[in-house]
Amino acid sequence: MERKLLKNNLLGTSCLAENNLNIDDSGFGTRDHRDHYSPNKRVTYPPIFTWPAQPIATLKWFFGFPGYFLPWNTFYVVIGMISWYWLSPPLEKMATPTLSLFMLIFFRNTILVTAYYGIFHLRLYIQRQQGTCFKFNPSWTSVNNKKFLFKNQTTDNLILTFSCGVTIWAGLEVGMLWLAANSFINIISVSEHPIYFMFVVLTIHLWRDFHFYLIHRLIHWGPLYRFVHHVHHKNNNPGPWSGLAMHPVEHLLYFSCALIYLLLPFHPAFAVICLAHAGLSPAPGHSGFERITVDKNRSVDIDGYAHYLHHKYFECNYADGILPLDKWFGSFHDGSPESNERMKKRLIEKSLKRPL
Ligand SMILES: [Zn+2]
Ligand SMILES: [Zn+2]
Repeated sequence: MERKLLKNNLLGTSCLAENNLNIDDSGFGTRDHRDHYSPNKRVTYPPIFTWPAQPIATLKWFFGFPGYFLPWNTFYVVIGMISWYWLSPPLEKMATPTLSLFMLIFFRNTILVTAYYGIFHLRLYIQRQQGTCFKFNPSWTSVNNKKFLFKNQTTDNLILTFSCGVTIWAGLEVGMLWLAANSFINIISVSEHPIYFMFVVLTIHLWRDFHFYLIHRLIHWGPLYRFVHHVHHKNNNPGPWSGLAMHPVEHLLYFSCALIYLLLPFHPAFAVICLAHAGLSPAPGHSGFERITVDKNRSVDIDGYAHYLHHKYFECNYADGILPLDKWFGSFHDGSPESNERMKKRLIEKSLKRPL
């Protein structure tokens, strides 16, 4: 019986049997002797970064699905726009911020986080609608594990997300809107600068990729890793709520991505969209699944493998997005055995360089 189950898991047929699905992950990847799932599809970068240039593929990537705009980039921009234009106090009121104005923004962000992260957690970890189908690590989030607050990974992640993450996000947002409301910075009008406005909004995603890579490399530096970033890395088998489960110093660095817009001709929407992007986008990447089933026959890729590999191995894939920074700086892991060998070599070289 045990052998049959193991064989079924290795072939991925467990998805079919357990969850009434007509698809299973064996068509998309393989499972090792520990039942850990690896997609056949390698982590890749968009054709815009390949040489010789591929103009048709690049155009398809920009305007196709999935592509630069759809679905993720547009989704976060729309949420940010709605947050600024319909779910924020008028800018004049922010000139003298009060506790109630802060709470308004805090509650708006809390609702966004609860709804978005909650959907992934509910569907994948509470209802377990697809079981371990497409799940990288066959184990569920930890319970009775001393390294987490209250010995429970999800409880730990929820406390860190709401007590520090959403608070720091709201604090930075209030601070930036206060600067804008008091005209301490140069504010533009959308009607006068529509092209500049759209350009900034549609490149927030790229800036966030670059900023995340920089601060992520920084907090992997020994002392900062030990005091700050190890809190996030307790989640070596992450769930959606692990996305914002960070030390407060990491939250500050992480959300500081929005500050760059203070140096440019500013519009409040830039700050609100950038912070909403930072606050929401970690959910799919930490879900622990390669794909989410949308019905019995179909599933969609949620692009979580690159960052899952970072949580699994620590010393690879510091960037998590479009820009091939890891490739340029030698820390890229595409999920292949060759990448694994290269990473092991790097780690050996690094340990040899360390003073005894
Ligand atoms: Zn992470
Ligand atoms: Zn890290």
